[in-house]
Amino acid sequence: MNIETLGRIHEIKKNWTVFGGPCSAESRDQVVKSAITVAKSGAEVFRAGLWKPRTNPCSWQGVGSEALEWMQEAKRQTGIAISTEVNSLSTIEATLKIGFDILWIGSRNSAYFPLLDEVGRQTSSKQIPIILKRGMGSELDEWLGAADYIRKHNPNVILCERGIKGFNKNTRNTLDLQTAKVAQIESGLPVIIDVSHASGRRDLILPMAMAAKAAGFNGLMIETHPDPDTAKTDSKQQISLSDFETLMAKLNTISSQI
Ligand code: PEP
Ligand code: MN
Repeated sequence: MNIETLGRIHEIKKNWTVFGGPCSAESRDQVVKSAITVAKSGAEVFRAGLWKPRTNPCSWQGVGSEALEWMQEAKRQTGIAISTEVNSLSTIEATLKIGFDILWIGSRNSAYFPLLDEVGRQTSSKQIPIILKRGMGSELDEWLGAADYIRKHNPNVILCERGIKGFNKNTRNTLDLQTAKVAQIESGLPVIIDVSHASGRRDLILPMAMAAKAAGFNGLMIETHPDPDTAKTDSKQQISLSDFETLMAKLNTISSQI
């Protein structure tokens, strides 16, 4: 492990880490432009989805491997750590080969045990941090059990609450901060809050982000795009780059109350 990677892992273990970036990598320009703002705003990690888990197989599936090099370029230009969702052995290998600092397992794959086992195995020597999103229908023991599949090989797991299915049609999902807090207490693992997929609405990002910070969570995942209305995926929940900067400044005005 080189010293740079070690430093990044140390960053993630601090109390508060923000992951920002577009839902999907769409073009080199979009990736690099977003990364520049995300880094300048003080967020520690840049995120973008390369292989998108879509409900319908006919929907756009993400640019895939072509964006590996765009992410590398973003890291080269800004020095920010980079992260993406992996969904198979080949995507794990491809991302590790080019120096991704953090990988995540998406909500839809969060109970796919062979994948959890494999991501743990493949990252065990470098102990690259792995974010495990909560399944949208997972109870606490299912979420923590899934984390243990990774932890068997790599203890460096970060839990991510991203909202669960509920009866409420006003928001995309229901942000379950209570179970997220129990997960943090019982597992001893860092827990970050993905306010974007929880809410599905741009106007809820700031208030929910403030709540998560005040409640003593360990960070946020927030989707931001240079032109959210034209985003290929999740356009309603992505905030503009200037709103991301404002949000980061506002978050600096509050501290964890826990
Ligand atoms: C994402 O973060 O890009 C994503 C697809 O999220 P989730 O797996 O939580 O739906
Ligand atoms: Mn998304």
